[in-house]
Amino acid sequence: MRTCLHNARILTMNPAFDEFVTGWVTIEDNRIAAVGEGPITPDGPPADETIDVNGDLILPGMINTHGHMAMTVFRGLGEDVDDRLFRYILPLERGAITPEVVRIGARLAAVEMMLGGVTTTADMYYFEQQVGRVLDKAGMRGVVGQTLADYEPPDHGSFDQGFALVDDLRDEFSGHDRITASIAPHAPYSTGPQIMARVAEYAHDNPHVRVQMHLAEMKSELEWCATHHNCRPVELVDRAGLLRPGAIMAHCLELEPGEIATLSERGITVAHNARSNAKAGRGIAPVEAMRNAGLAVGLATDGAMSGNTLDIFAQMAPASMFAKLLGGSRKCLPARQIVKMATIEGAKVLGLDGVTGSLEAGKCADLIRVSLQSPRMTPIYDIYAALVFSAIASDVRDVMIDGKWVVRNGAVLTIEQAKARRDVAQIAQQFSQKTRQIDAD
Ligand SMILES: [Zn+2]
Repeated sequence: MRTCLHNARILTMNPAFDEFVTGWVTIEDNRIAAVGEGPITPDGPPADETIDVNGDLILPGMINTHGHMAMTVFRGLGEDVDDRLFRYILPLERGAITPEVVRIGARLAAVEMMLGGVTTTADMYYFEQQVGRVLDKAGMRGVVGQTLADYEPPDHGSFDQGFALVDDLRDEFSGHDRITASIAPHAPYSTGPQIMARVAEYAHDNPHVRVQMHLAEMKSELEWCATHHNCRPVELVDRAGLLRPGAIMAHCLELEPGEIATLSERGITVAHNARSNAKAGRGIAPVEAMRNAGLAVGLATDGAMSGNTLDIFAQMAPASMFAKLLGGSRKCLPARQIVKMATIEGAKVLGLDGVTGSLEAGKCADLIRVSLQSPRMTPIYDIYAALVFSAIASDVRDVMIDGKWVVRNGAVLTIEQAKARRDVAQIAQQFSQKTRQIDAD
């Protein structure tokens, strides 16, 4: 099967940042066969399907480098309440998070992400096998992390049970071409040095199982480390051997310059959650300093409880603006770099830059069509700035992952959208009742 998209504006996000005002892409089976400039593919075999995209933009699918898909069921719950994690979320997680709830929450997240142009996502939560199955069925690409934590999580009463769940996840998705299993110690304060060392050992013995973790996220984490271990989080995690090449660290907000150098030396990659960090009042991650030190930094939504939306469009402008605020200059983190972080650099964060993240011959065909027809996208002097500061998720019209259309004309093809919404709304009704009980107690 050979498909040709033509009459397209194209951002390749290849190393030379090649872009074409008029161009074409051909897709053969699940791969990109060629990308070129001009009105239509000049040579090669005729396509089975030729699609005129009417001057719209074709770019690589976006990469969400950190999130908790199932937490769509908590979206908007206890907003603006300072202790909502301990007051509402943890009790609800303990009592009400089942494999079925995870499946339902993740399914809505998959719909939302695909509609918003996310083709690959990294996830960490409980009952993570369910998340892997949802991504598989949705047709998405994903790195799925079974979370390990010590605060009575819903799916493991002991760390031994938690590690067994990681084994199950690894075994189920071993050899899968789109889903990669991962081990996700929740954070330094919720696992501790011994468990982190055990995770490091596990990762050493299972080199295909990536590590994901929350790191240097907030002041209370610094205080916990100082009180219990007389050091800072980066040092504690490093001592445990967990700063391994390819480990994905989310947030990385509370960093000193020496720690940035350490993370870079260890080959860590970083998931930057601009909106969720800001919404919690935590601060601004030193993204430019990390990237200048050679760290790959991707954009991320975090869970819908923390950041509400799961598309990368909503992350791009804040990520650029916060860097400008931090640096006190309009020049900080320019739009082109933000689009890079949303695509090829995000893929690098997840270790998938050989597979996805740019439009280059031989890579998997993960691409999106963004409408350029709306008033807010007119005129376009700088396509990167238009994407970062003007476009919104609903400008995404079509989405292809691994050579298959998963969204056409703004409708998801692989999951029934109305049912996905209905199921989560039903769970939210139960949760509303439970939060009212908590408030009454
Ligand atoms: Zn998170």
